[in-house]
Amino acid sequence: MTPMTLLTRVRGDITRQHVDAVVNAANSSLLGGGGVDGAIHRVGGPEILAECRALRAGRLPGGLPTGQAVATTAGRLPARWVIHTVGPVYSRAEDRSHLLASCYRESLRVAAELGAETVAFPAVSAGVYGWPVADAARVAVRTVAAAGGDGPFAELRFVLFDDRAFAAFDAELQALGPQP
Ligand code: ADP
Repeated sequence: MTPMTLLTRVRGDITRQHVDAVVNAANSSLLGGGGVDGAIHRVGGPEILAECRALRAGRLPGGLPTGQAVATTAGRLPARWVIHTVGPVYSRAEDRSHLLASCYRESLRVAAELGAETVAFPAVSAGVYGWPVADAARVAVRTVAAAGGDGPFAELRFVLFDDRAFAAFDAELQALGPQP
């Protein structure tokens, strides 16, 4: 991270963030779902889905693989881009945290390519995909703290929908030590 990159957390709704790019906890179809994905398409309007369909018809005929990220317009959201990423479904039997880390790294790589200076992330995989939120927070915060330096970022913001998720991300961010 550049010395000036702020790592922040807010309790709130990802669709209301005034940032350059918001990250969507999508599924590999890119054609919509519930949770964050449903909210982004509902508030952002049909332009986002139209671009997702174009990606499926073009360079992503099989959908977006788990751990990867791709950008579209943000439609009517107060952001310039949506970066769609596909988190892994939680498994007790298998450690998939490398795939969850990859979501954050790849989203940051795409954001840097776009020139996004402010990026908002939801707690990827911590909803329908079943990840225990403390674990999801640890992977998210450590990965973003480690990878956020390779870009033009001024602020990397975690947006948590409920108190439990906020507390988990807050604890991980505090464990990193003082921020600039
Ligand atoms: P996944 O399928 O990757 O688990 P979900 O969208 O089901 O993704 O949930 C991811 C996290 O986002 C959960 O903690 C959920 O409570 C939260 N969430 C749901 N809606 C929103 C929203 N509008 N803004 C921010 N976070 C949200």
